[in-house]
Amino acid sequence: AMTSKDHIELAERYGAHNYHPLPVVIERAERVWVWDVEGNRYIDMLAAYSALNQGHRHPAIVQALVDQASRVTLTARAFHNDVIGPFCKELCEFTGMPRVLPMNSGAEAVETAVKAARKWGYTKKGIPDGKAEIICFANNFHGRTTTVVSFSTEPQYRAGFGPFTPGFVLVPYGDAKAVAAAITPNTAAVLVEPIQGEAGIVLPPAGFLAELAAACKRENVLLIVDEIQTGFGRTGKAFCFQHEEVVPDVIILGKALGGGMLPVSAIAATEEVMGVFHPGDHGSTFGGNPVACAAACAVVDAIDHDLLANVVARGTQLADGLRSFRRVKEVRGRGLMLGAVLDGDAGEVVDACRANGLLALSAGSNVLRLLPPLVVDSEEVEEALGILVEFLR
Ligand SMILES: *Cc1c(COP(=O)(O)O)cnc(C)c1O
Repeated sequence: AMTSKDHIELAERYGAHNYHPLPVVIERAERVWVWDVEGNRYIDMLAAYSALNQGHRHPAIVQALVDQASRVTLTARAFHNDVIGPFCKELCEFTGMPRVLPMNSGAEAVETAVKAARKWGYTKKGIPDGKAEIICFANNFHGRTTTVVSFSTEPQYRAGFGPFTPGFVLVPYGDAKAVAAAITPNTAAVLVEPIQGEAGIVLPPAGFLAELAAACKRENVLLIVDEIQTGFGRTGKAFCFQHEEVVPDVIILGKALGGGMLPVSAIAATEEVMGVFHPGDHGSTFGGNPVACAAACAVVDAIDHDLLANVVARGTQLADGLRSFRRVKEVRGRGLMLGAVLDGDAGEVVDACRANGLLALSAGSNVLRLLPPLVVDSEEVEEALGILVEFLR
């Protein structure tokens, strides 16, 4: 049988080196646990950056996928299928939006929101053709396509990939005054993460989203909220923007929408915004495919009051535990989206944890990111804290 070392060598030999994974080769998983090819067990405290909110291989989602795969898997949007209607209805009800448009990856959904905002700007707001601007925030993360990295402030995401798509304006995150000052008659939208995940679990000041929403309404600008990482229960509410009772014009969804099984993304939007799309304007071969729709319906069904209550309770338990460790300077986050700011290199802690049965990741040099599956129970949080304490006391 091949060892972890053999598998890593093979991937390094034949795969592109666009990632540098931790040296663990996972062959099997269940709920919050994964096993490597040598049979070592690890607790997964990353949950694929929130794509595994329901845990690995949630039985109802696996069942929905298998059932659908045994009927019909793909029709393309050239034909109707009998799953997309129920999926759209369920996702509308869950998001509180009147319409949804399904895609596959998160970055594609962000691109969809950008296209929708621009076309809305030209056809509804009357922005002169080619002049639409979208306001984004420093240290954002919205994906890796050419247009999306055009408004990244991370040098590595851009270096060597220009020329870039124009039409994006950057302001400091959490600064509502800077947004108000940056709005011009050509501003179509503001695109915001309610918590910046990749930047290291950075929360804006309280009231920021509400201020943004008010400024957008005043100036006839769309508010686009990227809930790809924060959505579907991660922060203790269905969506993170609900902590401030704002109503966005566009919600961008991804990651957990696929149940950790396959890429499913979407935008949910108002009638006025979604109305800009006419047949042929936009699409994707796999967007809205029957398997994706079936999995996503099972995902939405799995998010109930008990799960959200668990996120709040386990989030408090984990954050309190982390705060009691000497090397932890600050714990940021909401629900089960936590960043522990350390007194030194988080990468060393990540390596030590991996060797001791816990998988997590750093953000920047000194933030330890913890995003366990939302189904994690209290004993499992204790077990994780028991491993972390070794390296953080
Ligand atoms: C992961 C992520 C994306 C990109 O999603 P992909 O599926 O990797 O393209 C966009 N926005 C946010 C906030 C994310 O966390």
